[in-house]
Amino acid sequence: MLQLRNYIGGQLVAPAAGRYLPNVEPATGQVYSQVPDSDAQDIQLAVEAAQAAWPAWRAMPAEQRGKLLVRISELIERDLERLARAESIDNGKPLKLARTVDIPRAASNFAFFGTAAQHFASETHMQDGVALNYTVRHPLGVVGCISPWNLPLYLFTWKIAPALAAGNCVVAKPSEVTPMTAYLLSELCQEADLPAGVLNIVHGSGPGAGQAIVEHPHIKAISFTGGTKTGEHIARTAAPMFKKLSLELGGKNPNIIFADCDFEAAVNTSVQSSFANQGQICLCGSRVFVERSIYERFKAAFLERVATLNVGDPLEEGSRQGALVSEPHLQKVLSYIELAHQEGGTLLAGGQRVHLGGRCAEGYFLQPTVFEGLDPECRVNREEVFGPVVTLTPFDTEEEVLRWANGTEYGLAATLWTRDLQRAHRVAHALESGIVWVNTWLHRDLRTPFGGMKNSGVGREGGLEALRFFTEPQSITIKL
Ligand code: NAD
Repeated sequence: MLQLRNYIGGQLVAPAAGRYLPNVEPATGQVYSQVPDSDAQDIQLAVEAAQAAWPAWRAMPAEQRGKLLVRISELIERDLERLARAESIDNGKPLKLARTVDIPRAASNFAFFGTAAQHFASETHMQDGVALNYTVRHPLGVVGCISPWNLPLYLFTWKIAPALAAGNCVVAKPSEVTPMTAYLLSELCQEADLPAGVLNIVHGSGPGAGQAIVEHPHIKAISFTGGTKTGEHIARTAAPMFKKLSLELGGKNPNIIFADCDFEAAVNTSVQSSFANQGQICLCGSRVFVERSIYERFKAAFLERVATLNVGDPLEEGSRQGALVSEPHLQKVLSYIELAHQEGGTLLAGGQRVHLGGRCAEGYFLQPTVFEGLDPECRVNREEVFGPVVTLTPFDTEEEVLRWANGTEYGLAATLWTRDLQRAHRVAHALESGIVWVNTWLHRDLRTPFGGMKNSGVGREGGLEALRFFTEPQSITIKL
């Protein structure tokens, strides 16, 4: 069985203690590879390699660093099909989604930041013939990047690329649940001749390798994406060490449909924003609020489309819904379906585990599930389910829907559908949400700040925000 390796100091190496964790294919429920169960020893080796590589990497002109990152982007594009297949097998997502979203975006992340670093100018402030003030942004040194399982290569590279572009060396850990494409990336970095030690990829569990990254005294900053509880734990560990922290955490996103919307577009996109990647995208809109005058019509059209989302083998072209990522996660989502029943919800669609035949007989499949009749303040409407489960709720006024939309501890992304321009701005400004999409969903421009308010995170990724995060500003004043 394939044993993945850590990428440390430019080499693919076994974990120091020789321990491995099983890596399961969600569509089959079978272990198909082994992932290093690394610990503090491996992190120490990675930090030493990164420290040794840093002086030359930071001294390299941004243009040259950028070229290496663009080269990695090109190799990802070249291997698109192979990487998409690996992502689909590792995560359970439909191959088509990995091919059109995950892997192209991983390539874009490297290309975007490879070139962005060349446009990252220092600021100058002239004080009328008295002094010249300018700001230098130094790379931090060795930084840590920790990512989740839902968009494995996409989110892993979203952190690594800006960290490297800004002149840092990186110790990165992908989710132990979906390590495969990060492993394949390490091979591509070797092929791209990325200097040894600039990027180190260490596999392992959160409490093992992850915790060792957060605790390491020579890792200057942590960029983390994952659950809010984990983020809280990381913040508690890293804050007393005065590490810079970027935390991209959970969400419970509202999707608000006003009666004057483009009905077809709102229905079609809402089906996507509810169920893409089996609802396992932090930006999915799991609470759908519909203005009462179109509620019944919207519900009928929405359910009609949901019925076409066939659940199937992620590797088959016709499958619109793949498997959930793991057995424990499937059980967690099923427990929320049970809770929705207990909280008085009416099941409109789905609600059951799906047992496919053949190679997928033991896979973690679930029907796309829709409830109505739940109190906007019940647990199912406040807690992150992170699966193919949405609730429909009618609303009467803008004030009411804003109160419900903002009524959770989260504030990551919101979607609203209306043709009234003034209302679009007014509601968008009133939403406590780091990202607001109007008449669209998951439309991304990599230059925009990305991140959440409230318990959805601290700091922003994307564009120059990411380059600022991965640098230390120094202000220099010269008397004229
Ligand atoms: P998770 O918090 O369980 O794990 C995320 C990563 O953190 C994994 O690599 C894990 O090994 C590591 N980790 C766990 N404990 C750790 C510790 N003590 N120290 C260091 N690292 C540790 O999250 P998950 O289940 O992999 O991902 C799902 C969550 O991620 C959801 O809550 C989702 O909303 C969130 N998410 C947020 C965004 C965003 O951009 N805001 C994007 C995707 C996912």
